[in-house]
Amino acid sequence: MPSTYDVINPANESIVETVQLLGLEETDAVIAKAANAFESWKNVAPGERARLLRAFSQIVTDRREELAQIEITNSGHTRGNALWEADNVANTLMYYAAAPERLFGRQIPVPGGIDVTFKEPLGVVGIIVPWNFPMPIAGWGFAPALAAGNTVVLKPAEYTPLSAIRLGELALKAGIPEGVFNVLPGKGSIVGNRFVTHPLVRKVVFTGSTTVGKQIMVGCAEQVKRLTLELGGKSSNIIFADADIAKAAAGAPSAVFDNAGQDCCARSRILVQKSAFDTFMEHFEVAVKKFRVEDPNLATADMGPLISKKQFDVVESFLDEPIAFKGSAPSGPGYWMAPTVLLPKNTQSRSWREEIFGPVVSVMTFEDEAEAIAMANDSEYGLSGSIWTRDVGRALRVSRGIETGALSVNSNSSVRFWTPFGGFKQSGLGRELGPDALDSFTEVKNVFISND
Ligand code: NAP
Ligand code: MG
Repeated sequence: MPSTYDVINPANESIVETVQLLGLEETDAVIAKAANAFESWKNVAPGERARLLRAFSQIVTDRREELAQIEITNSGHTRGNALWEADNVANTLMYYAAAPERLFGRQIPVPGGIDVTFKEPLGVVGIIVPWNFPMPIAGWGFAPALAAGNTVVLKPAEYTPLSAIRLGELALKAGIPEGVFNVLPGKGSIVGNRFVTHPLVRKVVFTGSTTVGKQIMVGCAEQVKRLTLELGGKSSNIIFADADIAKAAAGAPSAVFDNAGQDCCARSRILVQKSAFDTFMEHFEVAVKKFRVEDPNLATADMGPLISKKQFDVVESFLDEPIAFKGSAPSGPGYWMAPTVLLPKNTQSRSWREEIFGPVVSVMTFEDEAEAIAMANDSEYGLSGSIWTRDVGRALRVSRGIETGALSVNSNSSVRFWTPFGGFKQSGLGRELGPDALDSFTEVKNVFISND
């Protein structure tokens, strides 16, 4: 049954827009349309598919201000972040626009003929997106999927459908044929789940909680459906005493509080070598107190509100551990929370173990490299992380020792659209972005042609 959803501005709790949610029958109709469109999209000449993706990228660039404003209002993202997010979609599309003409197979020597491989598209790809980064996470799925010749059905999160709806309209304006890129606002339990159960959806790309990710993996097993999972994280920011402590501390707030901490790559555990603890904490306190939580429309904002009252309550439940210090935040209306630094009692404390997904970070100390690696690996997750040291050998040893998908040394960045991104352990399955992702949207077909 169709229904509606009131989209809320999390900075002031006003209703932005009321969106129609798709029911099961409508979802099936769109999937059928996408399957039909696949029959022609897969045969579009590579150069033409590339041209269409470049046109899509260009229109996203032309509308970056508009898309960013949608995200500021719908998601409470800062202006700086929202513009980066719109640009990230354009850049990811442009990057994968180079792919259609380069989807090379192999020619393998065999007796009695020739053997060649083809990279075939899968069909309809279902992409299920969370509310924390609505635009980039959608783009990381649909850009390589479309480039490889698949058609796409995209379900945005219920809280944040507006930028995805606009991207769907822009794709049509750019000339992407009807039915190739479809946006389906709706509930996870209806639209999202239908991507899992519908036999014509040949692959699911899911980003979100580990709990739902596991359910989706079980569901996909029924049809041996292809699956990419980007799930939770509990990433470490490891600071050795030989590092530039002032620099590490200055960057530590944005490494976890960016996007109000609603980031699967958030470095929500800080591990400091014991001898540097006092110096680090002094610098870190100054940096946290400078971190500006305010109206995300302001150019000076470092952080806006949390996405919802529900998320606010979840994050607040972590604040019963000892607090080292905190920043400040506006009072309501809106889901505002001050960045908070916790000193958990031990590594069994809840804040040390669970993904918080809010502006809260826990700090603990370690003695040496071996202990740092063991503490970082003591988690069911393994998504990102940072290491701060001036010792190249140590940087290499610790990088190799940590079970995580995306590490940075003397930096807090995790994501570049041309390098692979994804998780170890329960942080996910498969890789997005870079060349690795492209292969996950194709099947290899091997053909032998006899010379008899
Ligand atoms: P979620 O429930 O995993 O939702 C993610 C997406 O999956 C949404 O589009 C959701 O739709 C959809 N979905 C929900 N149930 C589904 C089902 N049974 N079948 C198919 N799709 C389904 O995440 P959440 O509730 O928004 O957030 C809960 C927690 O997950 C957060 O506190 C955070 O810890 C974690 N999280 C992690 C990431 C990440 O990037 N790794 C992102 C978001 C959240 P609806 O919006 O309609 O429910
Ligand atoms: Mg949920």
